[in-house]
Amino acid sequence: MHVLKKARVLVASTSEVYGDPAVHPQTEEYWGNVNPVGPRGCYDEAKRFMEALTMAYHETHGLETRIIRIFNTYGPKMRLNDGRVLPAFIGQALRGEDLTMFGDGSQTRSFCFVDDLVEGIYRLLMSDYHLPVNIGNPDEISIKDFADEILKLTGSNQKLISLALPKDDPKQRKPDITKAKEILGWTPKVNRAEGLKITYDYFKSLSKEELNKTEHRNLETLNK
Ligand code: UDP
Repeated sequence: MHVLKKARVLVASTSEVYGDPAVHPQTEEYWGNVNPVGPRGCYDEAKRFMEALTMAYHETHGLETRIIRIFNTYGPKMRLNDGRVLPAFIGQALRGEDLTMFGDGSQTRSFCFVDDLVEGIYRLLMSDYHLPVNIGNPDEISIKDFADEILKLTGSNQKLISLALPKDDPKQRKPDITKAKEILGWTPKVNRAEGLKITYDYFKSLSKEELNKTEHRNLETLNK
């Protein structure tokens, strides 16, 4: 049906397909290092299967497909209690709680501002390239340094407390965006200082009730 209608299907995949990567930065050619039976297995393997299925539809049925591998993204309107590090840290700073750093904070991530991601998605959709493309900001930072940036940004006097590192937490993550540059003419435009400021202004505008109703979600649920 879709083939007849020439619909184009964009699949939102993830850097999680690389698992705890042994290749750094991650190129699209890297097959990844995923623990299928670990706590992240269902998510990671589901996304990997989705990519496999997408390619099968493309190869067998000629379906027009695009696969984007989305790396850590942030921006205004994130949910405070989605468990991700940025809303967790900013929420804690605004509530006057200590920041919950998992492990020693030496693990790295590379954070992309949402507007850049949306532009990358649009360009990929409009392109004629059907293999996976990484979209993310390669500016890599350790979680410890990221926490320090949040404390500075929010002017908070809170401490960093170290909690147990969740099992299979990837030690490093940074996209190789050569393909996105060459094929889509895309590079991220918003640096972390600018993006964090915009995001912090959003969280600051929330009411006390909104800030408080998500209290301790990270401590109670994520880190069991
Ligand atoms: N993290 C942390 N404290 C938190 C939430 C997350 O130190 O309260 C760490 C987490 O262990 C990981 C990194 O921050 O190393 C990014 O976590 P997130 O869940 O945002 O993204 P993902 O691990 O899926 O890349």
